[in-house]
Amino acid sequence: MLKTLSDDSATGPTSGAAAASSCSPGLTSGPWLLDAGPGDTLPASGYGPGASQDDPIPGGAPRQGALPASYTEASEADLHERIRVAKAELADRVVVLGHFYQRDEVVAHADFVGDSFQLAKAARARPDAEAIVFCGVHFMAETADLLSTPEQSVILPNLAAGCSMADMADLDSVLECWEQLEEVYGTETDDAGRVPVIPVTYMNSSAALKGFVGEHGGIVCTSSNAAAVLDWAFERGQRVLFFPDQHLGRNTAKAMGIGLEQMPLWNPRKPLGGNSEEELQDARVLLWHGFCSVHKRFTVDQIAKARADHPDVHVVVHPECPMPVVDAADSAGSTDFIVKAIEAAPPGSTFAIGTEINLVQRLAAQYPQHTIFCLDPVICPCSTMYRIHPGYLAWVLESLLAGEVVNRITVADEVAEPARVALERMLSVAPGARTGTER
Ligand code: SF4
Repeated sequence: MLKTLSDDSATGPTSGAAAASSCSPGLTSGPWLLDAGPGDTLPASGYGPGASQDDPIPGGAPRQGALPASYTEASEADLHERIRVAKAELADRVVVLGHFYQRDEVVAHADFVGDSFQLAKAARARPDAEAIVFCGVHFMAETADLLSTPEQSVILPNLAAGCSMADMADLDSVLECWEQLEEVYGTETDDAGRVPVIPVTYMNSSAALKGFVGEHGGIVCTSSNAAAVLDWAFERGQRVLFFPDQHLGRNTAKAMGIGLEQMPLWNPRKPLGGNSEEELQDARVLLWHGFCSVHKRFTVDQIAKARADHPDVHVVVHPECPMPVVDAADSAGSTDFIVKAIEAAPPGSTFAIGTEINLVQRLAAQYPQHTIFCLDPVICPCSTMYRIHPGYLAWVLESLLAGEVVNRITVADEVAEPARVALERMLSVAPGARTGTER
């Protein structure tokens, strides 16, 4: 059951934010207050309020132009109706995709709701739709563009909806890292025919990085299939360079039996990533120094409190959480794993969840037979998902009706070709049984 829409001002908080303390007063404002067109005089607004608000934003990060007042001043109920009417008129010409972490007022209009990979597959399953409106973040829209037909337009309602984790691994830094690794390891295969390093990028990365791994014999992974992808990589390489999320890489490799001493961190600001040549020679998985600021908020203390307050609680967290949190949880897995764990539980179960607040609140509403709460007592959504407000969704849909495609996300051909190779490699790898870990 989705949140009931009220007649609040369209500048209301993200779902549920009014009900508990939040990490930023900015969450009560319309995200357009952070947006303005090129050449504007506003200060750079960073990622905006939410979990990534303190992360440094790259200089060239896309900015969203000003949204017309007819959207910023409309009530939530008006926007809901305008979106409903525009979607009905567009009918099969458009498909709206909503990420699990998206606010309910937007998800209410989605044809498909899921994680980034499920949504990319949903986009692929609708070649008839001329426009795919992706209510997620930038790398997800790029992936949808890679997997959709050239005739289809992929639209990101707010161009400022990036991903702070994806931005932590930029192409130049990865190219520099690769050069240094080639100096250390050379380029020769071993007796088993394995190359020195296979690059593996998490789905949460730019198309440019997916293109890089495609060109260098590498592969993309998701939080559902990371273990199967690492198995694939170790058949072909002596070691893996895993980016951008160190936590997913560490948690997955540890569950596969790889020792922490064989997983050095690669800090792109230091020579050899801050490691000695000897440490690099011993490495099996080189972990890029990236993280998700949403999942970094979860702590072992929060788990201890959940267990003290609810002795029968099942703690389930996302593998983007730090390793001590994953180790202290009862199970860890992708958003799909979390949803399925709740679906399969007997009535009266209690879940403490370590993932983004919008998904946790939606699950709590959908499964009233269970007690479901977020491990973090502070409401702190993903800063960039927050930037997609119903006002932007109404704007892109009404623009389509008027014959105008706004905010189209296009991956250049020279990047798209190798990026598709890396994605196709992933699609050919069976997800395997290890979609999550149960303790
Ligand atoms: S939840 Fe984390 S990884 Fe996902 S889009 Fe937000 S910042 Fe990026």
